[in-house]
Amino acid sequence: MRLIVIAVTFAIFASACSSEPAEPGPGTTAALTTTTTPVTTSTTTTTTTTFPPTPTTLPEVPRPDPPAPSPDQAVPPGSRGAVIVARGGADLFEEVEGDALVRAHEGLVFPVSARAGDFLEVLTPCNDTNWVRASEVAFTPATPEQTIGAGFNFADAVVVIDPGHGGPNYGATGPSGQREKEINLDIARRTRDILATPHTINWVTGEVLDGSAIPPAGQVWVTRTEGPEGADIESGLSFRTALANSLNAHALVSIHNNAAPDGPYDGPGSEVYHQYLDDESKRLAGLLVEEMRRGFTPFGADWVGAFDAGAKFRVRANGDEVYGILRRSEVPAVIAEGVYISNPSEDALLGTPEFRQAYADAVYRALVRFVTTDDAGSGFTEPPPYTGTPSSGGPRTTCQVPSQP
Ligand SMILES: [Zn+2]
Repeated sequence: MRLIVIAVTFAIFASACSSEPAEPGPGTTAALTTTTTPVTTSTTTTTTTTFPPTPTTLPEVPRPDPPAPSPDQAVPPGSRGAVIVARGGADLFEEVEGDALVRAHEGLVFPVSARAGDFLEVLTPCNDTNWVRASEVAFTPATPEQTIGAGFNFADAVVVIDPGHGGPNYGATGPSGQREKEINLDIARRTRDILATPHTINWVTGEVLDGSAIPPAGQVWVTRTEGPEGADIESGLSFRTALANSLNAHALVSIHNNAAPDGPYDGPGSEVYHQYLDDESKRLAGLLVEEMRRGFTPFGADWVGAFDAGAKFRVRANGDEVYGILRRSEVPAVIAEGVYISNPSEDALLGTPEFRQAYADAVYRALVRFVTTDDAGSGFTEPPPYTGTPSSGGPRTTCQVPSQP
């Protein structure tokens, strides 16, 4: 049986989207039954019905987050993995059998690093090591280490999607006033929705279609999601990477959009940072650059870019990785900088569901190719040593784990 986990940090707040008109998501059976003609194949013992691929309906907004799991679930063996806080919340303890620090909000996700009896050791989004009762969470153990590539089944893929920034860290702000943290989150949740549903990809055009050629990914985790005021927090970089590390994820993709280009560019100036000395991270970055250029070019814009746009790394003169996400991740990780939110023309694109979906589709295609093929990717550039000072990446000292009301 395949395990489908849509992990979100505030599943309870799905109603934040409910004021929006209900839109069918990708892969809806309604689209299949109204727009396609089934083809029936009969054999002596079975009858299977398949449908030709159909265009995916564009969602106006991502799907609502799934509800929190029920408490008192059977606890599978294992001492590493991740948990989702069950309905009603879960007490966090500094030590096993100690006093509860806070009752963590239902739907929150924590990586698990150890186990002691009925307690699991977790890392909070504020980068604190705490304990939870296994009866108050749903535990998914780490997947066994596997080699991906040609022949690997996408139904076994474990993927962590990381919407950049959050809470008081807005990321870049576009000329229209829209904030990078909100756009990144929307794109991440759209990516989650596509990954969790079967699709067919037209590899000639790049279209992501309703179909069944590619099964849903085995597990899809998102490092943060929307919430009401006070619950939208900036997860620490250790937390974001620990989630991927604890699960033995096959890929960690951090979703961002860029600012401060070098100048006009003759196409999308998409950039993807990879881990300096990791061939698999580099391959994923090259695939994502290919798929973003393919997906974004038809939109047309007054594109801008950096002289070394493409798949690249960012290290200091001594070879140290600059970005914490890439430095701390023990699994193949990349940071995607899709387009320039600082550029009015690209900021306008980022405000549309069509472009956000195209970004999510590009991440999806890149992940399918990364996990199920040996494709090498392209667009690699050789940047000069980095001499700037990146931001710390949080979390803030004011970080608090959202509590159950
Ligand atoms: Zn960013």
